Amino acid sequence: DLITVQELAQRMAMRSTDLIRELMKQGQMVQANATLDADTAQLIVEDLGHSVKRVSESDVEDGLIAEANPDAERVSRPPVVTIMGHVDHGKTSLLDALRQTNVVEGEAGGITQHIGAYQVKAPDGKLISFLDTPGHAAFTSMRARGANVTDIVIIVVAADDGVMPQTIESINHAKAAGVPMIIAINKIDKPNVDPNRVKTELLQYEVQVESMGGEVQDIEVSALKRMNLDGLLEAIQLQAELLELTADADRQPYGTVVEAQLDKGRGSVSTLLVQEGTLKRGDIVVVGAEWGKVRALIDDQGHQVKEAGPSKPIEILGLNGVPEPGDQFAVVEHEARAREVAEYRARKKREKANAATSGTSLEQMMAQLQDAEIKDLPIVLKGDVQGSVEAIVGSLQKMANKEVRVRVLHTGVGAISESDVILAEASKAPVIGFNVRANKQAREEAERSGVEIRYYSVIYDLIDDIKGTLTGMLDPEL
Ligand code: GDP
Repeated sequence: DLITVQELAQRMAMRSTDLIRELMKQGQMVQANATLDADTAQLIVEDLGHSVKRVSESDVEDGLIAEANPDAERVSRPPVVTIMGHVDHGKTSLLDALRQTNVVEGEAGGITQHIGAYQVKAPDGKLISFLDTPGHAAFTSMRARGANVTDIVIIVVAADDGVMPQTIESINHAKAAGVPMIIAINKIDKPNVDPNRVKTELLQYEVQVESMGGEVQDIEVSALKRMNLDGLLEAIQLQAELLELTADADRQPYGTVVEAQLDKGRGSVSTLLVQEGTLKRGDIVVVGAEWGKVRALIDDQGHQVKEAGPSKPIEILGLNGVPEPGDQFAVVEHEARAREVAEYRARKKREKANAATSGTSLEQMMAQLQDAEIKDLPIVLKGDVQGSVEAIVGSLQKMANKEVRVRVLHTGVGAISESDVILAEASKAPVIGFNVRANKQAREEAERSGVEIRYYSVIYDLIDDIKGTLTGMLDPEL
C-alpha cells in the first residue's frame, strides 16, 4: 500500500510543502508526488503526533452497494437508448427531433435543457430515456469503465449513403456489449433514395432486418422532416417489452454519471442516470472519487424535483468535485462513510496515475531508453469539461515528433487547485487552465514556487502556444 506525500499531508490537514520540510529535517528529500510505503508513512504520522488507522480495500468498498433483495417488488422501468452511426448520417438531428416529440404538453415552446440525457413519451404513454451524446465514443468509454447503462442501441444509417465504416463499428460495439439494436434508416425524405440497398448491405455484417426476414427491427425515418418518429419510438417500446426491464424503486439508490462539469454559478453539476432505487434531495452520495449531499435535483425540462426513480436522468447539485462520465454513484447513510470511500478512491486514482508515469517495467525502460533523445514538455492541464480536456490532450499528443513532445502529467476538470500547482512544481511544468481559473491557494502557491499558470479560452490558441514552445525546444540546426 502506497500513499503520496501530498495525500498524506492532506490527511493530516497540513500543507504538502510543510510536510516536505518535515521530511527534509529527517533527511528525506522527497517531492509532493513521491510515494511512501505504509510503514514509512506510519512512522512519519506518529512522529508528527497523529494516530494511524489503516484501512484495507475490502473494508472501504465492501457493501457500498447492497445486494439486491430477492423478495423486493420489481417494477417495469423505461429503456435507456443510445444513438450511434456514421458521421453525418443524422444522429444529432434524430436526437433533436426526438427530444421535441413531446416537450411537455401545454407548456408552449417548453425549454428542454441539455443535461446529457432526456426522456420522451412513446405513443403508448410509456417513457423512453435517451443518452444525449451521439456516437460510440461515449458508449465505449462508459462501457470500458464498467458502466453498462444502455439497454438498446439505435444505429442510424443514411439512406443516401448506406453502410459506412462507423456504421460497422457501431454494429460491432452493440454486438460486443450484447445490447440489441434497432436500425433507423434516415433521410428517406431525399429523392431517389433506396432503403433496400441499406438493408442488403447490412446482411454483409450479419445484421438481418425484419423486412428481410431477420430479427433486427428496421424503421425508415426522416429526422429532418420528422417522418415516422412515432414508428421509431414504438419499435423501441416493443424491444423494451421483450427485454422485460425492471428495477426495485425502493432500495438503496445507485446509478451512473452521464455527464459532469463545473458551472460558474452552481458549482459541480452532474447528470446521473438512476439505475435502481429512488434518489432524493438530501441524500448523501458518493460518486466516483467525489461525494456530497444532493442539494437539488433538476430534470431534463429544467424543473426542480424531489426525487428521481429508475432510468430517470437527473442533474444534481451539491457534489464537492466533478466526477467522470461512467463513474458509479451510491447513496450512503453517513457523510463520514461517503468521505471515506471518496478519499480512498481519489488516492487509488492518484496511485494509478503515478504508476503510469513512473513505471519501471522492462518495456517502459526500453521505451525510455529509446526516448532519451526526446525532450519533454511536461504540463498539468485543467479544463471546464471532460470533453474539452480530452480533445486538448489528443491534439497535444499528435504534435510529438522525433525530438520533442508534450508529457501530460495530470488532467482534471475544475478550478486549478494548490495540489495541481505542487504537482507542476515537482516536474517544473506549467499549469494550463482551459476555461477555468486558479483558486486563491493555487495562485499563492504558484507565486511562492514560481510555477507558471497559463489561461486559455480558445483551444486553437492553446495548441498554437504549446506548438511554439515545442519549436523553441528544438535543437538549433547546425
Ligand atoms: P451526425 O453527424 O450523425 O450527428 O449528423 P447530423 O445530425 O449532424 O446531420 C448531418 C446532416 O444531415 C445535417 O446537414 C442534417 O441537416 C442532415 N440530415 C439529418 N437528418 C436528415 C434527414 O432526415 N433528411 C435530410 N434530408 N437531411 C438530414
